Amino acid sequence: MSLKSKAAVVTGSTSGIGLAIARSLAAEGANVMINGFGKPEDIEKERAGLEKDFGVRCAYSAADMSKPDQIAGMIAEAEKTFGAVDILVNNAGVQHVAPIEEFPVEKWDQIIAINLSSAFHAMRAAVPGMKARKWGRIISTASAHSLTGSPFKSAYVSAKHGIAGLTKTVALELATFGVTVNCISPGYVWTPLVENQIPDTMKARGLTREQVIHDVLLDAQPTKQFVTPEQVGAMAAYLCGEAASQITGANMCIDGGWTAQ
Ligand code: NAD
Repeated sequence: MSLKSKAAVVTGSTSGIGLAIARSLAAEGANVMINGFGKPEDIEKERAGLEKDFGVRCAYSAADMSKPDQIAGMIAEAEKTFGAVDILVNNAGVQHVAPIEEFPVEKWDQIIAINLSSAFHAMRAAVPGMKARKWGRIISTASAHSLTGSPFKSAYVSAKHGIAGLTKTVALELATFGVTVNCISPGYVWTPLVENQIPDTMKARGLTREQVIHDVLLDAQPTKQFVTPEQVGAMAAYLCGEAASQITGANMCIDGGWTAQ
């Protein structure tokens, strides 16, 4: 498989799963626009590293995925920089853990905006070019929480179920245009997003850190192991290849058996 001459935008790719997806696509030869927050010097190191390691062009957009105008601006900037957006990966995401009656309203709004609405805004902006070129790949990082619930994660689970529905709908709309639309549903992947929810989960469930890791996180996963960011990156690269051209509207689980239960 080669993605040479293709250009990708990967949202939320300054860290964790998004960075691993950006590296997987670059390894196949795609030019990549990365996006997300972080220290400027760290982001520049990642951007320059992608160019050096894989001999591709890599640009950075600081667009905030909670802002529709900035999302449209990011897609326009990528089209200008690379001549096209052939691959769109909606990956940016945040988490907040709290009982429903204490769930801060602004956290609900933020999670729905970043984890769900941003995918709508990015697809809306990128699809016209993909349709015109009759080739495209849209992948969203959903979650095992797109298929199943967990207590204290009302906004996150709602947003991820929304991503699964959006994926099916847009896949059907684009089925005859050479554009596939899929989501990937990882179980627990050891990234800052998971590490940062440990204190709130300790509070919400009255557990220690070790108990949260073993009795909550890995309890969900029959393999008793975390998924790696690189495994998710490899799945994304596969979905971009010719072998996956008949996979569309799918929700690809990579969850150590979590959702088989
Ligand atoms: P992470 O915290 O390592 O990375 C999140 C990325 O999103 C970072 O680059 C961050 O800067 C960016 N981001 C956050 N808010 C943003 C905003 N407003 N605008 C632009 N970028 C923003 O987390 P991760 O675990 O790599 O999560 C990536 C995706 O994978 C998320 O959608 C998450 O829900 C999903 N996911 C994670 C796991 C897991 O166990 N880690 C499991 C299933 C799904």
